[in-house]
Amino acid sequence: MDLQNYKNTSKIDIYIWRYDNSMNIKSCYCCNACTQLMNKYNITNIYTFNKNKIESAIVKNPGVSLAYKIKNKLI
Ligand SMILES: [Zn+2]
Repeated sequence: MDLQNYKNTSKIDIYIWRYDNSMNIKSCYCCNACTQLMNKYNITNIYTFNKNKIESAIVKNPGVSLAYKIKNKLI
């Protein structure tokens, strides 16, 4: 989606998650790149599921992105 088309991004809630091997929902936090992008567009309402609770997906020290890890052969 093109975020620039959304005038009032504070009205958008974004939920992100992963599945583990048994298809259980796992929490998922914004990486470095996402956090920068979200800051740029002033989006703060990104959440993830931790056990049965909803919590912010934006963390203080975000990790590097998966793309970065692949590019730099870190995984
Ligand atoms: Zn990310």
